[in-house]
Amino acid sequence: MSRALLLLGHGSHLDPNSSEPVHAHAARIRAMGAFDAVRAAFWKEEPSFARALDGLEAAEVVAVPVFISSGYFTESVIPRELGLDGAVTVRGGMRIRYTPPIGADAVLANVIAQRAIEAGAEAEDAIAVLGHGTPRNRNSERNVYLQAELLAASGRFAEVVTVFLEQEPHMSRVLDLTAAERVIVVPLFIADGWHVGESIPADLALEGPETRRDGRVLRYARAVGTHPAVADVILDLAGEGDAPAGIAAIPAWLDAAFAAAEPFAFGELTVRFERGAAVVEPPVPGREIDLSRVRGMVRERPGGGYRPLTGEVGLPGGWSVRCETAQALAAALETVYPLAAVHAAQAADGALRVAGLEAVLARQSGRYGAVAAASEAVRTAAVRDVCGRCVRVPCWALPPGVTIEPAAGGIAIPCPEPCGILIENIRAGMTGDGEG
Ligand code: SF4
Repeated sequence: MSRALLLLGHGSHLDPNSSEPVHAHAARIRAMGAFDAVRAAFWKEEPSFARALDGLEAAEVVAVPVFISSGYFTESVIPRELGLDGAVTVRGGMRIRYTPPIGADAVLANVIAQRAIEAGAEAEDAIAVLGHGTPRNRNSERNVYLQAELLAASGRFAEVVTVFLEQEPHMSRVLDLTAAERVIVVPLFIADGWHVGESIPADLALEGPETRRDGRVLRYARAVGTHPAVADVILDLAGEGDAPAGIAAIPAWLDAAFAAAEPFAFGELTVRFERGAAVVEPPVPGREIDLSRVRGMVRERPGGGYRPLTGEVGLPGGWSVRCETAQALAAALETVYPLAAVHAAQAADGALRVAGLEAVLARQSGRYGAVAAASEAVRTAAVRDVCGRCVRVPCWALPPGVTIEPAAGGIAIPCPEPCGILIENIRAGMTGDGEG
């Protein structure tokens, strides 16, 4: 039976650190060969939750939320976007098993201990498990307390306390909550993002990995979610890390192009063939690099700064990738343009599932809920601005008067529904012109 693993993360259109750990865990598990396919999908990046299952042909899919808290995202947003019925959904011959988030898994307590030890923790020290928390949703604290209790029960450290960024007990009181001379603060966060890298050290007035205060020592660990051992937590939730290795499905057109050694253009990429291998190049090619380095190169703008829209015209160059197999070629295209090869195949077969702007705006929630009320003018401006600089071609109905021309030649990359970057732009437009 073919099996796939789906890792579901939050992502961010502003911070590449947000999605990077999820990609890294996916790559680690992919390399283990435990699943026929391993895919990452995001709420605020591509591929989106709503498209996470597109093109997957596995008989069984295990979907694991790479979130700390059980709550709004894991209980409302993800099931809604993936169309899940509960812990098990059977649809069109596919069985989708939806697990609790990694924050609810007991194996994560080992990873917290690892982070603490890396930061110098010893048996006589106190560990402060630092969660985000929010007074608006008491559910968000549940897994933080659970992990702290599991760590305390392991007996590895003299004391374990729990503190939070946005609720009581606040992290600023961390030294008051324990009498231990040394306290190791371990951020129970998915990424080494803005909070872990900047706001927490600033708010705690940390002086680096070690801060001495009133004769006591405060040590600061790295985020738990970036530890390579999180892959073990994911496999524990998936419960089946011993499945046989296999090959992910490759879209038939791509397989045929590789077999025929037929050069083609795909978005801004050029694929040519030499000595039985495909060579994938951006508009300004450079020296050959390993595929594992490509994502880092194409997610950053040439002048610096995150490039969250994968289809954005102006693909960073200076690299090329040699692919000896059709599968390696599929992986290269997937790295640069997630799901594009699958969507091209589905569009050619008339099987592409399309959702329009109205439908996507209507299913936004939380602080994005208000975008459904965006005026025609704001929508039109956003579509012109964002889709007008994207190599993907919308298959959904554009606002009146807007046309997006497909690039001349090459294989068109269809866009089946408005992406998170467009929705963010609409939201920003509402704020900018006083609608929000
Ligand atoms: S919605 Fe527009 S900008 Fe986003 S992927 Fe589709 S075509 Fe590109």
